[in-house]
Amino acid sequence: MNGEEAGARTPKDIRVDSAAGTRSRDGRDRAPAERARGERTRLERGRGALGPALELVHTGRAPTRAVLTSALGVTRATAGAVAAELESLGLIRVDARPAAPAGSHGRPSHRLALDPDGPVVLAAQVHADGYRAALVGLGGQLVATSPGCEMVGADPADVLGSVVAAGLALLRETGRRCVGAGLAVPSAVAEPEGTALNPLHVAWPAGAPVRDIFTAQVHAAGLDVPAFAGNDINLMALAEHRHGAGRGARHLLVVATGHRGVGGALVVDGRPHTGSSGLALEVGHLVVRPGGHPCYCGGRGCLDVETDPRALLLALGRTPGDSQMREAQDLIAAHGAEPAVRAAVETLTDRLGLGLAALVNILNPDRILLGGLHRTLLAAAPERLHAVIADRSLWGRSGSVPVLAAALDRGSLVGAAELAWQPVLDDPLAALGG
Ligand SMILES: [Zn+2]
Repeated sequence: MNGEEAGARTPKDIRVDSAAGTRSRDGRDRAPAERARGERTRLERGRGALGPALELVHTGRAPTRAVLTSALGVTRATAGAVAAELESLGLIRVDARPAAPAGSHGRPSHRLALDPDGPVVLAAQVHADGYRAALVGLGGQLVATSPGCEMVGADPADVLGSVVAAGLALLRETGRRCVGAGLAVPSAVAEPEGTALNPLHVAWPAGAPVRDIFTAQVHAAGLDVPAFAGNDINLMALAEHRHGAGRGARHLLVVATGHRGVGGALVVDGRPHTGSSGLALEVGHLVVRPGGHPCYCGGRGCLDVETDPRALLLALGRTPGDSQMREAQDLIAAHGAEPAVRAAVETLTDRLGLGLAALVNILNPDRILLGGLHRTLLAAAPERLHAVIADRSLWGRSGSVPVLAAALDRGSLVGAAELAWQPVLDDPLAALGG
């Protein structure tokens, strides 16, 4: 968006302004010039506060108008006008007469909640075993999901066409308004080009323009909305930071298995750290077992091939099938107490611990979240994992880095939705009300 568009006024701006009132604090009418000046200021402040206000409600940090007022640092009147504007856009609901908690005195503040019937975005994920489409509302709420299974062929247009078609079917079923589309892929995504740089676990050519292909499919489906693409683990980390176990962390490290392989992400002050060309945090290629399994990257013994679902199945002498993540997790859930499974879990846990210790030394995170099979390993052998990290890391020795399970079941899909919601969060009026 250019500066001219950002400054453009629509009739809705006037509502923000006029709703805030034109009287001074002591209730007397102000002189026309002063009033005009005050209105202009409030107009800009009101419009400028719409995005931050929506983000506060979106991330669960403003449950009432009183909290919103204080978090934004504006007057009650401005906060009221901002909340009313977001409600008129169909994004939130304002309950002006909430029931007072038992035993409390005084009038409770207006309650703010996301509109359960509000717009949605189309979120799509492609992984080694297929794809999934979902409709996601504000607040990371999954409104509908559509499982899909398909061999991911060499032409990204095939599977991206299927996932968009699945999303379109969900939109038809639910009748919801779609305001954007986001895609998570198992590859680093170069910015600003939107190309998949290293799709090791799907057969796409390196450098495939996945964002442009996805955008073309979204538009071909008749959806006139912006479309975005990002790396699946980066997006999962963003979702965890906004809606899950990463809330409040300033240097959040996320390590997770995909359906195959291992990815990592670092969210610094709310933004994924992507490096100079989108390739940062390729933690999958840390060597944790010199001379170990050959890796897709050309090396050996990488975290990617030593701690992913396939590695667990191989450690147990099994032939990995089509759905390795589910097979590995089912094995641990059903047979975790058997000596052979226990030994395989401990082997993978030790290798994961070595990788995490190296990352702790390099990145000094204040929280680590584990996802996919790594979340299962943490649940199965928490003390062992913590001990390896503490033993091998400079900063971890103090035991001060919390290692937690990722909280969201479909973090990459929710993160893909965050990409699609971002223009609305940045400027709700420009994105929806223009
Ligand atoms: Zn590797």
